[in-house]
Amino acid sequence: MEKKFSLLRPLDDVSRKIIHCVSCGNIATQEAIFSVDGATIIEKYCDSCSKKEFPITEP
Ligand SMILES: [Zn+2]
Repeated sequence: MEKKFSLLRPLDDVSRKIIHCVSCGNIATQEAIFSVDGATIIEKYCDSCSKKEFPITEP
């Protein structure tokens, strides 16, 4: 089963729930969207982990 990275987007904080980064446990600010076999998986990351895991190349 292949996990394919789709996009990274800022978490919307309307829920006011504290969500922790899946990688380091800090407060998450970004969510990464993956697709696996047609299903969508969302993983939450903090700023530093999201930059580390998903470097964004500015045009
Ligand atoms: Zn983190």
